[in-house]
Amino acid sequence: MPKKPERPYIGVIFKCCHIYSRVYLNKQGTAYVGRCPKCARQFRIKVSPHGSHDRFFELT
Ligand SMILES: [Zn+2]
Repeated sequence: MPKKPERPYIGVIFKCCHIYSRVYLNKQGTAYVGRCPKCARQFRIKVSPHGSHDRFFELT
């Protein structure tokens, strides 16, 4: 059976509520899109076209 490719994700700290959460790449592969699990604040982190993006973010 072919192995299912794992969707890339990054770890994000939502400073608004001091929560850590994983955020997955969107379908187009252009950005990481997510929401704070507590206050539902939305955010988007664009993927660098050169591929050198961090795996960890802090949102202020
Ligand atoms: Zn929040």
